[in-house]
Amino acid sequence: MTKPDRSRLPASFRADYRRYILTRILASALLFLAAGFLCTRIDFTNLRYPAMGIVMVYAAAAALACILFRLHRLFLPSWQGTVTKVGAFERICSTGNRGQPGRRMMVELTVDRGEKKPYTLSLFRSDKIANGAASVNLFQTHAPYKEGDTLVYLRGLRYPARIDVADADELFEPEYVCPFCGEFYTRERKTCYRCGKTLLF
Ligand SMILES: [Zn+2]
Repeated sequence: MTKPDRSRLPASFRADYRRYILTRILASALLFLAAGFLCTRIDFTNLRYPAMGIVMVYAAAAALACILFRLHRLFLPSWQGTVTKVGAFERICSTGNRGQPGRRMMVELTVDRGEKKPYTLSLFRSDKIANGAASVNLFQTHAPYKEGDTLVYLRGLRYPARIDVADADELFEPEYVCPFCGEFYTRERKTCYRCGKTLLF
């Protein structure tokens, strides 16, 4: 797997990234501390296996850290790669209207990360403002990733960032994805208007 060349990334972006990661680690650590405290307060001796009670409290803390602070993303490796294909496929999901199974158009990126097998990632973000159109995928309507783009993913982030863009000089305004929160932006922006972090390009 090709490792990203971090020196190519702007210093302000790297500083924002360090802060982002540190906040998540500290917040998760606080959750685990709270779980430890909780274990001293709950009497597990009535349980058949008292140790299981402690395990359950810590498992709940870990699950909460993944939901709230995306702790699991910190365990994904960082990589750099080139988009070789942008495709789409339909996924049936349980969150449809009135109990009906929903259908989602997923955008699938195939990325060459310098390994034997190509890496794929499926993307979906719905437009919450367009009511009743939850199956509209913003990654399909905005198409922020293009074939030939060089992407960088740093562990802990939500989305990979385009660092070398195939369509930068094309007539239409190219769009980018904020790797921290997933908001779309155009080239003239320096910071994300949703999360305030430094953007690439
Ligand atoms: Zn953002």
